[in-house]
Amino acid sequence: MEKTIAVIRGDGIGPEIVGEAIGVLDAVAARFGHCFTYREAPMGGCAIDAFGVPLPDSSLQTCLESDSVLLGAVGGPKWDAQPSHNRPEKGLLKLRGAMELYSNVRPARMFEDLASACPLRPDIAARGIDFVVVRELIGGVYFGEHRTDEAEGEQKATDIMAYSEHEVRRVAHVAFQMARKRRHRVTSVDKANVLDTSRLWRRVVTEVAREYPDVELLHMYVDNASMQLIRDPSQFDVIVTENLFGDILSDEASQITGSIGMIPSSSMGQGTRGLYEPIHGSAPDIAGQDKANPIGTILAAAMMLRYSFDMAAEADAVEAAVDGALKAGYRCGDILQPDCIPVGCREMGARIRERI
Ligand code: NAD
Repeated sequence: MEKTIAVIRGDGIGPEIVGEAIGVLDAVAARFGHCFTYREAPMGGCAIDAFGVPLPDSSLQTCLESDSVLLGAVGGPKWDAQPSHNRPEKGLLKLRGAMELYSNVRPARMFEDLASACPLRPDIAARGIDFVVVRELIGGVYFGEHRTDEAEGEQKATDIMAYSEHEVRRVAHVAFQMARKRRHRVTSVDKANVLDTSRLWRRVVTEVAREYPDVELLHMYVDNASMQLIRDPSQFDVIVTENLFGDILSDEASQITGSIGMIPSSSMGQGTRGLYEPIHGSAPDIAGQDKANPIGTILAAAMMLRYSFDMAAEADAVEAAVDGALKAGYRCGDILQPDCIPVGCREMGARIRERI
């Protein structure tokens, strides 16, 4: 099969981790007889330096014309002083909007061999952690109006949070369909005791649930959900929530599984094209030192194979190769344990590649 992949290396550790993911994709192409063509799409701080904007039109066009997009991470202290409309993250928000990627899926699974990296009490971790967070991605407060006004000698800032029914409905379907392939349980997270957007969210999710009688639906307030994730994460199968709550809860969810460097994510819209990236940022503190863990990005490439290219065997091969490298004891600094073999970004990539 022939596929074109837009590649956004980004900033900080982005180029290092994306390089390893591409190496793994090349190994997959060689073993399974595919042809992957990579098209560079500069975005983030590096694009501000080169083109003056975080997402040049040419990069956006490349992404829209490709079968899928692989992203490292963008941002870093060098661009913190940029005006808010021209920050690296704006490139990512614009790309998500232009590709109409309304759902973000983050699996939170504890790897057997990394159980000791789980920060929860061993008896809680022993119950297992295996759920996904489905986050609405292009609505809510991140896409509402943002304003800072000056009145009577002080500043007042306003951010508007809005949701319409169709925005809730389409992401609810993603969650219920995912639950059907898993343990048939959806927990919808909101703040319906306070927010109108949440009351609408709850009503629409409840309506959608009627189309999935085989899936159990529970509602939970976001403050309780943040607590339950730590108290007993084994109760969750699929969590569905709005943009801001999902941003926060999915970081919490990934941290309880071990390292932020291990977790991939996919962002999808209506068709098969998606944006695949690790959940972490550009980690400027370790950039350029061969210290980054590339596994989150490599597993993001596996998600691309599975969900956008319908290549399940290929995705299985990548995931098995990651498991194999971990079982053999190879660890990057963020997941280092006693008696393991410390490796850098490049060697971790090589150890996974050789197992494809
Ligand atoms: P971060 O995720 O970059 O780093 C947090 C901590 O985790 C750091 O100590 C870092 O070294 C470590 N870490 C992250 N990824 C790692 C990996 N693969 N291997 C080993 N250690 C890893 O978060 P931050 O420091 O808050 O943000 C840094 C920059 O990244 C900021 O400019 C932020 O805006 C940006 N950011 C970008 C994205 C994205 O591109 N999607 C997401 C989040 C943050």
